[in-house]
Amino acid sequence: MTDIHLHNTLSNRLETLQPLHQGEVRIYSCGPTVYDYAHIGNFRTFVFQDVLRRFLLSRGLRVLQVMNLTDVDDRIIQNAAAAGVSIREYTEKYVQAFFEDMNALHLQKPEETVRATDHIEDMVALISRLQEKGLTYPSEGSIYYRIAKFPEYGRLSKIDLGGMKAGARVDNDRYDKDDARDFALWKAPKPGEHFWETSIGPGRPGWHIECAAMAMKYLGETLDIHTGGIDLAFPHHENEIAESEPATGKPFVKIWLHAEHLIVDGEKMSKSLGNFFTLRDLFAKGTKPSSIRYLLLSVPYRRQLNFTADSLTQAANSVERLRNFVARLKAEQFAAGSNPQIAKRAEKALADFDAGLADDLNTAFSLAAIFDLVRDVNTAMDRGEFLQQDAPIVLAAMEKFDTILAVLADDDDEKLRELGFGSGPPRLTPEKIDQLIAERNAAKKRRDFKRSDEIRQELLNSGIIVEDTRDGTVRWKYK
Ligand code: AMP
Ligand code: ZN
Repeated sequence: MTDIHLHNTLSNRLETLQPLHQGEVRIYSCGPTVYDYAHIGNFRTFVFQDVLRRFLLSRGLRVLQVMNLTDVDDRIIQNAAAAGVSIREYTEKYVQAFFEDMNALHLQKPEETVRATDHIEDMVALISRLQEKGLTYPSEGSIYYRIAKFPEYGRLSKIDLGGMKAGARVDNDRYDKDDARDFALWKAPKPGEHFWETSIGPGRPGWHIECAAMAMKYLGETLDIHTGGIDLAFPHHENEIAESEPATGKPFVKIWLHAEHLIVDGEKMSKSLGNFFTLRDLFAKGTKPSSIRYLLLSVPYRRQLNFTADSLTQAANSVERLRNFVARLKAEQFAAGSNPQIAKRAEKALADFDAGLADDLNTAFSLAAIFDLVRDVNTAMDRGEFLQQDAPIVLAAMEKFDTILAVLADDDDEKLRELGFGSGPPRLTPEKIDQLIAERNAAKKRRDFKRSDEIRQELLNSGIIVEDTRDGTVRWKYK
């Protein structure tokens, strides 16, 4: 099998993946900030990360992937305080929603999904190490990283730091720092807001220290791969390097992978621009989960993805074509025998599919390999050149492709129903159920059994079972 080549943002060239630990690839993936639902731009990056891990697994490698959930930042602390709930209570809803969305898109769960708030001590320990090395300075109760002490700063993003004047604002910190490039490792508490009492003082962690500390805790001081969207290269990942390498004296990450943005009308989809859709926005309009997954993976991760209604329709058609092809393979009766050309053709498609992915996850190339096979096999079938024993071979190839695509299972309705959308029985609210049961009770009382049976059936159609107990009360449960 060919080597796996990936484009390293740090070296700005393709590099061969050579895992540090024999047979195991260790990956850190920046996860969502859980103050709201994730939008499909975020899922562009999460789908790319899923394709990466599925491809490595398909090569027989073990994967140890860690994804963080950023469950503490200024917005979360403020929103939780405004709602009068704890940080955990505030973020829990969005954490669960994220897992549900992942499930709808067939995103495999990383081996570890870790919350920042469960790792405050690890961050404090890393900040202490940086303090000991003289890389930090205190200011008004906060602790800053002094960029001037780390000459390699800027190597990842190749950003021109000369233009950043002292005093200019490069982030939302409202604290005093010596140099505009310096960033907060630890932020002083603000009146009325949540803080942690720690050995480096009271306060809360900055964002960058969270990923540096958690990545090293679970994956060791040097990781094979670190992923995220391109907007994270600077300053987030640049700062992670500054926080880890001087502390350990080792390279932090061998290969940095960054996904280009999903854009709408020429602009990055983002919360702050207000031009975003969540998955649920699209599901509510009838879009299938598989169409979204297919669209997001069909454009190689280093190309911008222009999101349009048209591209969603095309994605839906492509998935349909693949599913219909598999259905034809399973249902049609072919003449006995085997055509050795078909096995050869399938083998070539499998090799091309794999080679595309090995070439910096070129999903467009890999998908073309599948559709070429589909076209050739359909032609062979139409000509009677496709025989009984060829079917399982081509089916096996389709199944192999789907270990990465994950769009062949016809489970869109099921996924939508799980989230309360789609064409299943309409969900009844508990109030509506109670109201129908009261109506049924009234019907029974006036001995209108036809009506009471109708209501029982109506509830049953909506997935609700009504039970009449001996003491005369009525209970209901979900089917
Ligand atoms: P956040 O929840 O903002 O921390 O972002 C989670 C992930 O989504 C990060 O890896 C971001 O880089 C990525 N991301 C945000 N917006 C987009 C977009 N429009 N296209 C692709 N990835 C994005
Ligand atoms: Zn991160």
